[in-house]
Amino acid sequence: MDAQNIWNLVLKKIEDQIPKSSFHAWIEPLRCLKLAEDILEVGVPNRFFYEFLDTHYNKTILSALSDISDGKIRIQYKIIKEDPVETQPEPVVESRQLKTKEINFYERTQLNPRYTYENFVEGDSNSFAKATALAVAEAPGKTPFNPLFIYGATGLGKTHLIQAIGNFSLAHNKTSNILYVTSEKFMNDFILAIKRYKTTDFSRLYRTVDLLLLDDIQFFQGKERTQMEFFHTFNSLYQAGAQIVLSSDRPPKEFDDFDKRLISRIGWGLVTDIQPPDFETRLAILQKRADQEGIDIPADVGDFLAQTFKVNIRDLEGALIRLLAYGSIAGKDLSLELAKDVLRDHIVIPSAVIDIETIQKKVADFYNIPADLLIARNRKKEVAHARQVAMFLCADLTNSSLQSIGLRFGNRDHSTVIHARNLISKRLNGDSKLSSEIQSLKSKIPSP
Ligand code: ADP
Ligand code: MG
Repeated sequence: MDAQNIWNLVLKKIEDQIPKSSFHAWIEPLRCLKLAEDILEVGVPNRFFYEFLDTHYNKTILSALSDISDGKIRIQYKIIKEDPVETQPEPVVESRQLKTKEINFYERTQLNPRYTYENFVEGDSNSFAKATALAVAEAPGKTPFNPLFIYGATGLGKTHLIQAIGNFSLAHNKTSNILYVTSEKFMNDFILAIKRYKTTDFSRLYRTVDLLLLDDIQFFQGKERTQMEFFHTFNSLYQAGAQIVLSSDRPPKEFDDFDKRLISRIGWGLVTDIQPPDFETRLAILQKRADQEGIDIPADVGDFLAQTFKVNIRDLEGALIRLLAYGSIAGKDLSLELAKDVLRDHIVIPSAVIDIETIQKKVADFYNIPADLLIARNRKKEVAHARQVAMFLCADLTNSSLQSIGLRFGNRDHSTVIHARNLISKRLNGDSKLSSEIQSLKSKIPSP
């Protein structure tokens, strides 16, 4: 594939993740320049543009590119026409407020218009979370569900659901003063504000909304100053009767290194979870997505996808998009055969599953802990060590992709596996105790 082909796939993939007007304003002006080895060069018009792109859309672009290229291609931006008027770097908080006036509504709230209740398929796994979210959206700040805290594994619809609260409130004029933000962005904004002596601007921005949707709050673990800042933000919003909605990949009681007062504040509202969907719900989600794309999925292809991608809706949708992209480039009709062919590398092969389980079992025995702890969200030192060793061995000894290894370790991200693998290999040079542990473990694991 050449650079333009890859870029087109990226565009197709992110098109529906970014509001149309923003896509037009921020993505269309990008120019795909060339592919040099594993680096895709993309041109941006000026420095300001680049900074905005970087804070708002780069993540989306990167994750699309990584999906398409299986993490093999990196991106590099180049300024192709330096605009002298806009080269002065601007403080981030200020520039955002400044931009608010010219950029559309969605830019300010940071909401993706696709994440609505209408597009959210209900099933046993998520109906309670959905009902509470809807109650909150209808009367922000006026239900007992304040804060509303939704947790669940990755790719199960947390972001979708909490953004749906914002989109609903907007559409029904419950409030327009809404801010959706990831916890990471909250922290980055805070750090920048400190660096640039703009903390009052920061507070003004975050403490004056009527509805704050804060995503992935587990990110705050161990970040004391950010937690403290959020604690104050929380108090001032709460006192003003504003609604706070939080999401996380784990329940509050499993937070490590987290301000006790914040955990207790979370307990004032409602904590609810989203579970992995059953087969029928997965099929319904697929159907809905296909309708949105205006395509028909043959029944056997739908069944196949919903059977294969069980634990993560994002993967399920990703598979569909990959299939469509491939089908349209190759000019082939959607069929079961094509699906099996295209998704071959993304399917967990039964024999590989046994291997991973064998390794998990041997490692757990070796360290004398129950094997389920390797999969659980337990962060005890011994458990974390055993888990990293097990991940390292799985990456080393099995044919499974890092992604499927992550899945087998309690639906963790492939980056966690990469981290574990790198950490252990680094420590192996020089840590003789660890080397002998690994040696004797390897001798206990039968080759496939
Ligand atoms: P999370 O934030 O929990 O990691 P997301 O909200 O990003 O997950 O969901 C991943 C993808 O799956 C999104 O494209 C979302 O629209 C879709 N999705 C998840 N759950 C549902 C659902 N119940 N109905 C429709 N789409 C869903
Ligand atoms: Mg999310």
